[in-house]
Amino acid sequence: MMGETSWMFCLFYIVFATGFLFQFQDFQNLGLSPENLLTNVFQLDLGSEQLQFLEFHLRKSCGALLLQTFLPIGFLVGFSYFHVHVDQQYPSIYAFWESNLPFQVSLALFLGLWLLVWVVAQYWTLNHFEHHPYVTKLKLYAQNGDWKSVMSDINTEFRRIDKFTICTNPIERVVVTDNWVIYLGAVPWKFHLAHQSDVTLSLIQSEHHNISTEGQTGGTQFLRIQVQNGKPNCESFSFRLNSVEYQNLQDKLTRQIQNIQNIQIFKTVSDRFVEVFKEAVAQNPKAPAEEELEACIGCMATEANVKLIRRCDTIDQENENTSCVNCYCRPMWCLNCLGKWFASRQNQQQPETWLGSKCPCPTCRSKFCVLDVALIES
Ligand SMILES: [Zn+2]
Ligand SMILES: [Zn+2]
Ligand SMILES: [Zn+2]
Repeated sequence: MMGETSWMFCLFYIVFATGFLFQFQDFQNLGLSPENLLTNVFQLDLGSEQLQFLEFHLRKSCGALLLQTFLPIGFLVGFSYFHVHVDQQYPSIYAFWESNLPFQVSLALFLGLWLLVWVVAQYWTLNHFEHHPYVTKLKLYAQNGDWKSVMSDINTEFRRIDKFTICTNPIERVVVTDNWVIYLGAVPWKFHLAHQSDVTLSLIQSEHHNISTEGQTGGTQFLRIQVQNGKPNCESFSFRLNSVEYQNLQDKLTRQIQNIQNIQIFKTVSDRFVEVFKEAVAQNPKAPAEEELEACIGCMATEANVKLIRRCDTIDQENENTSCVNCYCRPMWCLNCLGKWFASRQNQQQPETWLGSKCPCPTCRSKFCVLDVALIES
């Protein structure tokens, strides 16, 4: 029989282990990050990330792996403690372990695994980390086997303030320096290194999230960028980035990011809204072309192609000011400019309400809604 405290402990430990492995924001705020535990609790000297970027991550990756593989052992020991001392299901810890063969086997297996990881980590550190998976990748770029000079070149570039860092999630990081693209994953063997002259970057996927974890209004667009490494024996990899950072990434690269699928990149909430606005307007009935169309007075680049024709029946009896009214203006705007105008007149804090809101005509100020926008037949 499992007591209440034992259950509570299981739940707590699952949350704790997941939070620690995936480094949720709250865990970082509490100081439960591997680097913090290694330096402050275990008193290890990881060095300075800013000054010795790769050395810091070589040490940190070994330490983090040891901490992560210790999690199951911590669970078994903690569980036995709560089961015996708090729930009092057994007279002693010894009695608990003696009568639970699966627990004994699991503990032996996890201890064995942890020891194995410890031995491997020791092996990696030999000879200034010569056998570490990161160094294996560095060696591909070494001239005459001198991987240390590759490392010091990367460290030098990392110290410059204009490096570009992408942290889409807490356990993955991409650093773009003047010459290198470096990917640091959650485990030591998830490390990629590419020299900018060898790579082709392409935009392969886009996803929209309506709720943003970074508090961005109007949701977030994430782009997946594939880094194809032309150098022999170097793997290709991909990473995710917030679309608002796309331009910064492009600025830091010596080559153009390819966008073969023509994925639209939304830099602002307003950009995203204009797309939705256009789709909504396309569903409305069209207006016949009655006169010669002039250039749009907003952008002067395209012909004016929309007219406001009141089609909705939103007559608000209580408040006449909020009802749509007829507009008699001749077509002066293109759909794109009208969409931008519409977005600019809304409450910037609540983009989810925009499409259902109203907006004054840019010329005569008559109120209109999305239903009242008609494309002119061409
Ligand atoms: Zn225009
Ligand atoms: Zn008007
Ligand atoms: Zn209306």
